[in-house]
Amino acid sequence: MKLNTIGVLTSGGDAPGMNAAVRSVVRTALYRGMKVKGILDGYEGLFNKTVIDMGDRSVSDIIQRGGTILGTARSEKFKTQEGVKEAAEACRELGIEGIVVIGGDGSFRGARDLSLQGIPCIGIPATIDNDISSTEYTIGFDTAMNTACEMTDKLRDTVQSHCRCSIVEVMGRHAGYLAYEVGTAVGATAILVPEIKYDLKTDVIDRILAAKEKGKKHFIVVVAENLCDVEAMSKEIEAATGVGTRPTILGHVQRGGNPTVRDRVMATKMGFYAVELLKEGIGNRVIAYKQGEIVNYDIYEALNMKKVLNADDLHIAHRVSR
Ligand code: ADP
Repeated sequence: MKLNTIGVLTSGGDAPGMNAAVRSVVRTALYRGMKVKGILDGYEGLFNKTVIDMGDRSVSDIIQRGGTILGTARSEKFKTQEGVKEAAEACRELGIEGIVVIGGDGSFRGARDLSLQGIPCIGIPATIDNDISSTEYTIGFDTAMNTACEMTDKLRDTVQSHCRCSIVEVMGRHAGYLAYEVGTAVGATAILVPEIKYDLKTDVIDRILAAKEKGKKHFIVVVAENLCDVEAMSKEIEAATGVGTRPTILGHVQRGGNPTVRDRVMATKMGFYAVELLKEGIGNRVIAYKQGEIVNYDIYEALNMKKVLNADDLHIAHRVSR
């Protein structure tokens, strides 16, 4: 079944590159002869019926902008059966026959529920955490890595001047992808991620002491968020090593900024493929990046996939940093 009008929304945590994906979805759909409605503030926009007609020019000048021009929100109402039914009804009233949902795993669960209610949805993975199991890459991850790396490089300057240790907490929700990449890129003495158990003494303190013994004077430890209290950890490290230690939580700065080339290109491709599926009335699928290719999976299947952080990669990073 060919669709005439589709919607596009961004949902969950924002990520740089979401705008580039919106642009791609809108322009691909228009090129394919469909009408496009931008749904504001995630699934909430369906309840509020806040939708805007999108033309080629409504997505001008956004490919390079962080955040999302459509706004994003977390909708508790949408998580209920009644909420999903009401949202599907709203789509019918608004003439929206299918939706491209740009967001994370939570947003995909919503997309599956809406597809089951007769509104075909295609998910595009966008989160700075790269914590979606069905895909090797999520839109926003590259920008966040580069931002966190740049911030940590700045910390390194002062840590080096004062012969200190810097404990840097990066985001990642419950995954260590961001911490691993950033930690490796900044040459961290220790990288702590939720996927791999650590012991503060052997995995951090002893490593700092061993490097100190060999003449190293400043240290960086990268820690994934939700893993420990970095303030308390800093005090313990300082007491055990005698090296002045300061914690820094990078926080939401990692979610902002202009998307990198990689995020823009990936968003453009994923947006295109999402519309190619949806235009035929195909729904309940998510776009993914696997071994250099853009592929798609059934949402249920995708949500049940497993992805693991490679422990060997972490060992390499640690071995090289001494
Ligand atoms: P993300 O998409 O980044 O993982 P969230 O987990 O906050 O972010 O999910 C975004 C939105 O998706 C939620 O506010 C909610 O509206 C919808 N959602 C999340 N989980 C579910 C679920 N289990 N069923 C239906 N909708 C969900």
